[in-house]
Amino acid sequence: MRSLLIVLAGPSGAGKTTLAKLLLARRRDFLFSVSATTRSVRAGEQDGVDYHFMDRARFDELVRTGEMLEYAEVHGELYGTPRHNLVMAREREQHLLLDIDVQGARQVRGVEPEVLSIFLLPPSGARVLERLHGRGSEDEHELRQRLATAEAELRAVSEFDYVLINDELEQTARRLEAILASEERKVARLGKEAVERANALVLEIRRALNERDDTL
Ligand code: ADP
Ligand code: 5GP
Repeated sequence: MRSLLIVLAGPSGAGKTTLAKLLLARRRDFLFSVSATTRSVRAGEQDGVDYHFMDRARFDELVRTGEMLEYAEVHGELYGTPRHNLVMAREREQHLLLDIDVQGARQVRGVEPEVLSIFLLPPSGARVLERLHGRGSEDEHELRQRLATAEAELRAVSEFDYVLINDELEQTARRLEAILASEERKVARLGKEAVERANALVLEIRRALNERDDTL
């Protein structure tokens, strides 16, 4: 099996984290790419599980030593994907799921052109506000900052391979799984495996025909 590298992006409040968690709870063949960040911990978040929380000096050092696959400043904080996450997923033959912003998605495409990119859209402007208020993790200033960034994120939609509208969560998850299932079967991704399977079938058919001739 070849590991897929999947980027899930979209404006704040679209439901990226919720969708990623749902998928990961169901599928053992997926690994969540735990990012590094300088932002502070939210209630309920765990260091090393949701993010690797660190100060700017440590983050800058990881960038300097080439340990980040990509990184970007989002809402005034730094976020980055440790290269090690990709190495680990490939070693374990798991698909790696990255929940990153559009700047990061561009950088990943630059270094890993086979990346599968999915853009998550909220069903409406009103629902984004409702969901962000409901999450309750930002004050009014931070909320407005996230909505301003959302405008820029939304303009990048055409750069992505797939778009999902996250109205009803379960339906979104089913659609995501359908995309992943077809991507897993792509001949270009299966590569040698597909050719070997087809070659083996040629031999099996010849053998079956010979056996049939023998019995006639
Ligand atoms: P993001 O990671 O894209 O910023 P979150 O996953 O944190 O977004 O979702 C924002 C809020 O919306 C959370 O409180 C989450 O529980 C809620 N939410 C996410 N998806 C749905 C959905 N399909 N229906 C209703 N609420 C949702
Ligand atoms: P949050 O603070 O809400 O968890 O995330 C804020 C934004 O940062 C989201 O758009 C999220 O996708 C993005 N983000 C999280 N991790 C990374 C990362 O490693 N790299 C980049 N470029 N963006 C990230």
